[in-house]
Amino acid sequence: MLFMTTPLDILSDQFGHNAFRPGQAEIVDYILEGRNVLAVMPTGAGKSICYQVPSQLLDKPTVVISPLVALMDNQAAGLRANGVPVASIHSGQSREENVAQWKAIASGQTKLLYLSPERLMQPRMLAAMRALDPALFVVDEAHCVSKWGPAFRPEYGDLGRLKEMFPNARVAAFTATADEATRKDIASQLFKGQGEVIVHGFDRPNLSLTVAPLSNRTNQLLDWMEAQRGQCGIVYCLSRKNTEKYAEVLRDKGYNALPYHAGLSAEVRFENQERFLAEPAVIIVATIAFGMGIDKSNVRFVYHLNLPSSLEAYYQEIGRAGRDGAPSETGMIYALDDIRMRRQFISDDGSDSDHQMREHRRLDALLGYCEAAKCRRQILMAYFGESSEPCGNCDVCQNPPVLIDATDAAKALFGAIEQTGQRFGSGHVIAVARGDETDRIKQFNHQDLPAFGQAKQPKPWFQGLLRQAVALRYLNVNMEAYGRLELLPKAYDILNAGESFMCKDPTVKRAGSKKVIRAADRYKPDLNSDDTELLSRLKALRMDFARQLGKPAFVVFSDATLIDMVSRKPENRADMLDVSGVGPSKFDRFGEAFLAEIKG
Ligand code: ADP
Ligand code: ZN
Repeated sequence: MLFMTTPLDILSDQFGHNAFRPGQAEIVDYILEGRNVLAVMPTGAGKSICYQVPSQLLDKPTVVISPLVALMDNQAAGLRANGVPVASIHSGQSREENVAQWKAIASGQTKLLYLSPERLMQPRMLAAMRALDPALFVVDEAHCVSKWGPAFRPEYGDLGRLKEMFPNARVAAFTATADEATRKDIASQLFKGQGEVIVHGFDRPNLSLTVAPLSNRTNQLLDWMEAQRGQCGIVYCLSRKNTEKYAEVLRDKGYNALPYHAGLSAEVRFENQERFLAEPAVIIVATIAFGMGIDKSNVRFVYHLNLPSSLEAYYQEIGRAGRDGAPSETGMIYALDDIRMRRQFISDDGSDSDHQMREHRRLDALLGYCEAAKCRRQILMAYFGESSEPCGNCDVCQNPPVLIDATDAAKALFGAIEQTGQRFGSGHVIAVARGDETDRIKQFNHQDLPAFGQAKQPKPWFQGLLRQAVALRYLNVNMEAYGRLELLPKAYDILNAGESFMCKDPTVKRAGSKKVIRAADRYKPDLNSDDTELLSRLKALRMDFARQLGKPAFVVFSDATLIDMVSRKPENRADMLDVSGVGPSKFDRFGEAFLAEIKG
């Protein structure tokens, strides 16, 4: 009698996971049935498993096309730690090494080969590939195939030929970011649309979502960080200068914070990245140059000091937190200035007006998210085409905003803008609405306008109102004209058509006056003090192994695995194999040591 190995067997025996995540099993089945697939899943959703599991069940090799050496190396390290043999060919290795890797795949010693698109498409490689007769081509970072996507790569353009050259192989493409048009384009290029397109797992319930208007960047950052002490995370800034400034602010307060931006030398960048991967509780303060290809599963927080460029970018950036599924925090602060700057970037971009229009609309969606009056996650999921329930793990769910009728104040403000000729910035029009007697007002005789002094709310209150009016498209900040404020059609509806203006109460709360329950506290497994102590001993042991191996700690075990270990307290091999993230191969290498540590 023949015992069939199932995908689930491979998942648990080789990778140590007890169950497929939603979406994974479906993709694995499609691949095993011989169908082409494009899977759009966010960072951290577990795309690799979707092709690594079938690769172990197919009778011919799997070839994974990946754009970056760092990505390949990380994947290979992770696989080897699980005892799965893997080959990779790239320019970072000697010729001899590459030849040896080819032998490993050609002889069937390994079933998985990683290489770059430009290498694959070399005529000699293609000829050798024909003899290898792969069962599956995997295109990683598949959005690079499409000119519609955010990062077209010419060397990916050629991959459309694969399907013709290898009619027996199926193609599985993966990306974390592709809107409707881009998906269609990828599927049509890679497999003439003959295959399945799956969008899955955009919901990352373990990530908390918080957005706050700017009051004081340094104080807000330090407040946020206080709750993150001892954790590792990423702080994103817009400018290189600020990455260095805020890294220093954090270092002054005793955090292990390092800057990262494209202006640092390659050595410094490499070293900071390595330290981030290898040491516990390192905080990287970075521009968006940091992140792509970083595979660290226990990043506990991502904090944005500025507005990101779009919801796609934002979701990809916060998606670097909590890839192990354990509770993780994300926060963002944004200001009117950020909106101004983003609009400026789009206008300065020099691309055609259609493109600019699309970009402005994407920015609008992001601003709508920032000013959300209902669950943030619902807004995000709707944007990515998934529906969802209020999450309970965002600041809006936890502290539902009070909506107020601010029609009178809005009329005063919009009236001030209209009556001053739509030629002034926020400071001046607020002063007019409030009836402040500034020199500028006297200079222009604006004290005689009907709107003058029609509202009495404090300045910060008005700034909050104005930010919402800009985010919700009542007002435009005109970048070509030094950021002056202009009325959009919705504002005229308020002024002239009797519409009312409902908004979140802009009253500035004193920081810390209302305690937000952090996701990490609410979901924290109930670890008593003994358990907490055990967890830190296990972390120390993990660090020892990681140092010996010269690999990042998560290659040994993820945080989620250690937490599971602490709550289960396995006493023997069988118990240990029940722990999520422990498979036989990892057990053979690390299991006994961890059992001994748990026994105490
Ligand atoms: P992606 O490529 O989508 O960004 P990865 O493939 O790197 O994500 O997986 C992210 C994390 O999720 C890894 O730590 C991986 O071990 C873990 N993971 C993947 N699938 C499962 C599963 N079925 N059960 C538990 N953990 C999983
Ligand atoms: Zn919510």
